[in-house]
Amino acid sequence: MKVIDTHCDALFKLQSARREHKVLDFRDAPELATNLQRLEAGNVGVQFFAIFVPPETSSMDQWECAVEQATIFHEEIIGKHEQVKLIRQWKDIDTLAPDEIGAVLTLEGAEPIGNDMQKLQTLYQMGVKSFGLTWNHANLCADGAKEPRGAGLTRLGREVVQLNNTHDILTDVSHLSVQAFWNVIEQADHPIATHSNVRAICDHPRNLDKSGSRFMKF
Ligand SMILES: [Zn+2]
Repeated sequence: MKVIDTHCDALFKLQSARREHKVLDFRDAPELATNLQRLEAGNVGVQFFAIFVPPETSSMDQWECAVEQATIFHEEIIGKHEQVKLIRQWKDIDTLAPDEIGAVLTLEGAEPIGNDMQKLQTLYQMGVKSFGLTWNHANLCADGAKEPRGAGLTRLGREVVQLNNTHDILTDVSHLSVQAFWNVIEQADHPIATHSNVRAICDHPRNLDKSGSRFMKF
């Protein structure tokens, strides 16, 4: 059986290493947690790679940070490994050979786009196929799971979900506040929880539970 893993932080880790003038090889570097050797050993058929801009990044640098990670994805992950294939359209998954691994570019937190929808379009063009509206905090699109206010989607957030629908992009509910989670469930054609699990098994703010309104009734 092939596995689809919908989240990893390899791009952020590769970028952090590069900024410290260290070279990590996606083929086998254990520091990346996810590397090619492990994907092969784990029979992973499709791997998602998140662009993650850390919260301490100044707003001026957020876009550049995201673009750099997208570039690392194309150069280091796709460009240097013949068996790793870019998933530009979802139907590309059906064309993968048994020994090939599909690579999907995703975004974790809408901070890098600010309120610039042109930047959103640029991310789509760079290959982003799954869009997480927040990390743990609030941004212009929504509140995250650790934001005390607990608000839902903003008007901009709803606009992003609508564009995701139009472009066949997944809208990721991991890290969202409860209210924003339900707003996405109501509006998104393609919701996904890329890295949320069962709260009853592991009590983590990113996990989903049935005691509150987070329980998915389907
Ligand atoms: Zn995360």
